[in-house]
Amino acid sequence: MRRKMVIANRKMHGNIPDNKEFLEGLLDGASSLDHAEYVVCMPHPYHFQAQAILTGTSINWGGQTMSRFEFGAHTGSISPYMLLEFGCKYVIMGHSERRMSGYESDAASGQRFEEALKVGLIPIFCMGETLQEFEMGMTVDVVIRQLTAVIEHVGVKGLAKGILAYEPVWAIGTGKAATPEHAQCILSFLRGHIELLDEEAAKNITILYGGSVNSKNAATLFSMPDIDGGLVGGASLNTQEFVAICKAANDASASLETFEVEPLLAVNA
Ligand code: PEP
Repeated sequence: MRRKMVIANRKMHGNIPDNKEFLEGLLDGASSLDHAEYVVCMPHPYHFQAQAILTGTSINWGGQTMSRFEFGAHTGSISPYMLLEFGCKYVIMGHSERRMSGYESDAASGQRFEEALKVGLIPIFCMGETLQEFEMGMTVDVVIRQLTAVIEHVGVKGLAKGILAYEPVWAIGTGKAATPEHAQCILSFLRGHIELLDEEAAKNITILYGGSVNSKNAATLFSMPDIDGGLVGGASLNTQEFVAICKAANDASASLETFEVEPLLAVNA
């Protein structure tokens, strides 16, 4: 059974006192919600704070991008080994904000995914269509193109070692989340596509939805069978709001566990 997961993408927000308040508040509010998993992706200079506050707890942290190279003359880039040195377990890649700035093409995302796995980081790979592509009915073509670029590098077994996030660009930071039905439909399609290549991988891979997730829509989104949780941008800037989303994931996971156990009890009765 897949546990629900919530990942905060704090983007280029925060400062030392604000991060301290957020990380300590998250620890207080979510570390005992043990049915789901929680990850915080901080801006690079602040990984030391996540490491200081979250080490030894159930909450993990990660980077928002990384170089596809290990070391070298790449001014401004961050080596995956540098993320590891600060205790990062995860790293986001292929985010639309980086794709649109020209930093992460399909092919480069595939290389990044491969490099992350090689050094022992868990990639969080983002996919999603623009508003124009959505209106032209191209959602499925776009996400399959983006997914294929990764599969070409690491194969489907490698893909399944990472986390996928479907993030329609038109839903990011707009307050207009995809409907749970639309998100479920695309995630179910993605899982079905992976299933054609490897049944076990499709069953186990975590696929998140991202785009204007908040404390009001989280429970309904997370109740969908193929939505394994959320990648959360704006709502992760408010500690209480983010903790409420973690709680929604925890409750959704807990109810799945009850659902799995009850039929077994019935059989044994
Ligand atoms: C994101 O940028 O990954 C994201 C999901 O942002 P928001 O939640 O603000 O839409």
